[in-house]
Amino acid sequence: MDKAKSPVWMPYTQMKTAPEPLKVKSGKGSWLYLENGEKILDCISSWWVNIHGHACPEIAEAIYRQAKELEQVISAGFTHEPAEKLARLILTKLPDNLKRVFYSDNGSTAVEVALKMAFQYWKNKGVQTRTSFLAFEGAYHGDTFGAMSSGSRSVFNDPFNELLFDVDRVPFPSTWSDDSEILEKEAASISYLENLLSENSGKYSAMIAEPLVQGASGMNMCRPEFMKKLQDILKKHDVLMIYDEVMTGFGRLGEWFACIKSGTEPDIICLSKGITGGFLPLAVTVASEEVYESFYDDDAAKALYHGHSYTANPLGCAAAVASFGLLSENENSFRRIENIHKKEMESLRKYENLTRFRICGTIASVDFYGDSGYLSSIGPILKSFFTEKGFLLRPLGNVVYILPPYCTSEEEICMIYEIIAKAAETALI
Ligand SMILES: *Cc1c(COP(=O)(O)O)cnc(C)c1O
Repeated sequence: MDKAKSPVWMPYTQMKTAPEPLKVKSGKGSWLYLENGEKILDCISSWWVNIHGHACPEIAEAIYRQAKELEQVISAGFTHEPAEKLARLILTKLPDNLKRVFYSDNGSTAVEVALKMAFQYWKNKGVQTRTSFLAFEGAYHGDTFGAMSSGSRSVFNDPFNELLFDVDRVPFPSTWSDDSEILEKEAASISYLENLLSENSGKYSAMIAEPLVQGASGMNMCRPEFMKKLQDILKKHDVLMIYDEVMTGFGRLGEWFACIKSGTEPDIICLSKGITGGFLPLAVTVASEEVYESFYDDDAAKALYHGHSYTANPLGCAAAVASFGLLSENENSFRRIENIHKKEMESLRKYENLTRFRICGTIASVDFYGDSGYLSSIGPILKSFFTEKGFLLRPLGNVVYILPPYCTSEEEICMIYEIIAKAAETALI
């Protein structure tokens, strides 16, 4: 493909210096097949969405069947079976307090909706002072303005700095295997939060967090015990808890959702990425009955004035219902992967240029020594090494992670560990 002539402007890409994009013809299971006849193992579920692998026939069929019935209908004043069914299915796997499902199109919009819900919740209750948000250092919540504001500042959002609203940030107690300082890190994070809350009592509407695993900033993992402590403190101070489970949802952490894995109950949860198995863009923001009730009123001004042209698109909902069915029928597909990681990761421990070995459910991650951060010089070197060898692994700076489709076989996962070992061995760095 002639890059100079292609009209396609790519995301997160410096078009001038980026290598030629690979032209993909088809996919099957964990494999992508290129136009030039080569094949590539998708080790990151194509940006964390293809939980069942590529071109899953059951979901393709479901979309085809739905497309012949109803492809789209305005979603104010109308509903349809796929939207009703999906909402009910999702609620069966979430904590009991979560009851109301609001549809949108992607992770960023799910986050915008959650922030608006939390903010207006207090206004609707007549509280005018709770106009700030809390978030974690290193957070990533998407690329729209509310999502960028609540995410940490980085090269991703630097040009827009003046347009972003301030949030107060709490240190994230990132941990890994053989981490002897985790209790101190958690205590420091908790006391930082408690100070903020006592100094600014009545100022915060909500705290937003990626529970258990922060994705884009480098697969930073924290302990379930920490999420519990966080919940207790926020409850005590009457601050709503928003879980951004856009990446962690639908089996990714070896359990249906991170809230279930950590035994916590957020007031609002955002889900997207894996929701349709990677077929169509769709997202939901699910709110507690209490949040919903503050909007439920004779006063029209208390409604949630947010929506998108494609809200609750029937094809997206039908794909998600089919994907949900596959997950329910075979929970072992996502529950089995953690043990494979545990076994295989041992083979990497001997390399001195690798550090911070960590696993949470289907995700395994390790850091290469060297400069860290998204623009770390190691990232592109590793990426092209893996690509040349036929692996889609896209390091986040110096962080290499495996986030496979759940259909990936044990043998294929072993191949991924072997190629990471080879990268460490050839001392690329
Ligand atoms: C990817 C991601 C988002 C943004 O989702 P998009 O669909 O890319 O807009 C938000 N939060 C988290 C945790 C994510 O991983």
